[in-house]
Amino acid sequence: MSSLRRKQGFLVVISGPSGAGKNTVVNELGKRLDRIRYSVSATTRPPGPGEVDGVHYDFVTHDEFQEMREAGELLEWATVYGNFYGTPRRFIEETTAEGYDVILDIDIQGARQVRSRWPAGIFVYLMPPSMEELWRRICARGRDSRDAINSRFNLAWDELEAVFDYDYVVVNSNLDEAVDNLRAIITAERSKVARCDLVGFIKNLKTNRRCNSSE
Ligand code: 5GP
Repeated sequence: MSSLRRKQGFLVVISGPSGAGKNTVVNELGKRLDRIRYSVSATTRPPGPGEVDGVHYDFVTHDEFQEMREAGELLEWATVYGNFYGTPRRFIEETTAEGYDVILDIDIQGARQVRSRWPAGIFVYLMPPSMEELWRRICARGRDSRDAINSRFNLAWDELEAVFDYDYVVVNSNLDEAVDNLRAIITAERSKVARCDLVGFIKNLKTNRRCNSSE
């Protein structure tokens, strides 16, 4: 019996306002779905409490970020809340070539760039259940100053309409359900005929048929 392989992995781009719960959903998804890897972004912002270099982000200086940009090492980059963030290209190319899907937690500016440079990706917008809940979650993180909280929250109002540029929307009112929805979206995408190596699979099936009929 042969298994159905995919030609290569795809990108799952997930965006949504600060506090929508992207980190939590993505972390939980990694525990419930196989053959998916998280793309670690480079950023010039300082590490927050509990954040580990190389795990949550590659924390780099402005000069290092500039060098990465100029060397063409970033698939996309953007300025978010006054800091630079970017997605290293090489990890994505190597990992998708190995047949793993790669999940990118990036802002809406970055998602637009990925859409034009890597159109075979899927784009998912994570919606907060309400603005009150969004405010509560941003405050509860305990990472940002009052000014930063205000600016993240104010930006969130303007970012809501960006959902129309995405393929899927998941409302994160309940973590379990949100992760299940995201998993279902990715599972369905994996079954798309265009993404599977059916030529090899059918060839294999036909070999087996010849074996059976000669028995
Ligand atoms: P935070 O500082 O809260 O971790 O992230 C701030 C925002 O930057 C979030 O909306 C997050 O999705 C976005 N972000 C994280 N990494 C990247 C990246 O590599 N590129 C872009 N464009 N945005 C990113």
